[in-house]
Amino acid sequence: MRLLVTGGAGFIGSALVRQVTAETRYELINLDKLTYAGSLASLGDAGADPRHVFERIDICDRGEVDRVFAKYAPDAVIHLAAESHVDRSISGPATFVRTNVVGSSTLLEAATTYWAKRSAAARDSFRFVHVSTDEVYGDIGWDGAPRTEESKYAPSSPYAASKAASDHLARAWCRTYGLPVVVVNASNNYGPYQYPEKLIPLVITKALQRDALPVYGNGKNIRDWLYVEDHARALRAILLRGVPGRTYNVSGRSARTNIAVVHAICALLDELRPDPAGPYRRLVGFVADRPGHDRRYAVDDTRIATEIGWQPRERFETGLEKTVRWYLDNAGWARNVLNAASALSARGLPPKPARTAAGALT
Ligand code: NAD
Repeated sequence: MRLLVTGGAGFIGSALVRQVTAETRYELINLDKLTYAGSLASLGDAGADPRHVFERIDICDRGEVDRVFAKYAPDAVIHLAAESHVDRSISGPATFVRTNVVGSSTLLEAATTYWAKRSAAARDSFRFVHVSTDEVYGDIGWDGAPRTEESKYAPSSPYAASKAASDHLARAWCRTYGLPVVVVNASNNYGPYQYPEKLIPLVITKALQRDALPVYGNGKNIRDWLYVEDHARALRAILLRGVPGRTYNVSGRSARTNIAVVHAICALLDELRPDPAGPYRRLVGFVADRPGHDRRYAVDDTRIATEIGWQPRERFETGLEKTVRWYLDNAGWARNVLNAASALSARGLPPKPARTAAGALT
């Protein structure tokens, strides 16, 4: 299997790259623009593996994307590259439309042109796995039923709307051109190497600096938490056993209020890195709610459980402890990605030079 992963230097993409490199014999082409959210340091040993090659490319650049398809002739694509932070989508939606909508359609077009020229057998076995989010279903209220793959889309934020648009494009490419697309809608991921702007790593890194821990509104919003290694396993299973044209929800089966998550992190830090000044909970403070903040997301994962045979392995409590321990042991990684991002925004430039790992797959 020669697998093209987009966004493979980001949080979920890098987990997938590390897992695939460690557990399979696949060859990987990692296509990533290296925005503030991407870091080659997240690849660990996988970055230097001869079966991994890195291409620093913007998915909106059709010529470069075509070049990658022609050069490496992948058997499948797992598309994760995106702008992914809801708050940033509220302050700057245009980037989200560009990358998530225009970028995804550029990738779909390039993939289709490449795929259409392959042999019949290669066309049949080709897969384009489009990675999306539970946020496309919108706010399901305090007692709404978990959303199934047939539920209607009702995105609230510019992020969710741009992902919903890309899901529609992916399905249209399947129906109109026959590209074997599978769409995956997963819940909130957490785990090592997540950029410290999302709730869990933000709270851990701020707590360690004794900064205020900001919680939106009253903290009662509910999210379902999926350990990133479980998501990577789900994507691999869907790649092999997913049916083209179908959508699969992926849930961590771990619904928690935001405030419960923050308190759980504080309790773990109290145990693992006690602060002589007192319990970390003293730092928690409520801030003005995010505009349009969805109360609750929940997805029904019956289809992936019954058709694909996947279910999450990690319990939230154990996954959260692993995550907190990882941030305690890897404070340098968080410092470096934050420094690189502030240098990038100060200069209005890309953060680092392109680097191509050894072992090109040609
Ligand atoms: P991330 O922000 O950590 O990583 C995104 C990666 O995409 C980065 O490496 C970035 O450099 C790259 N990228 C951004 N714009 C690009 C462009 N124009 N061209 C090429 N590369 C570009 O995101 P993540 O949390 O790893 O999410 C990955 C995917 O999974 C996204 O599509 C996201 O919508 C989806 N998803 C995320 C979650 C979650 O909780 N994080 C949940 C469900 C689905």
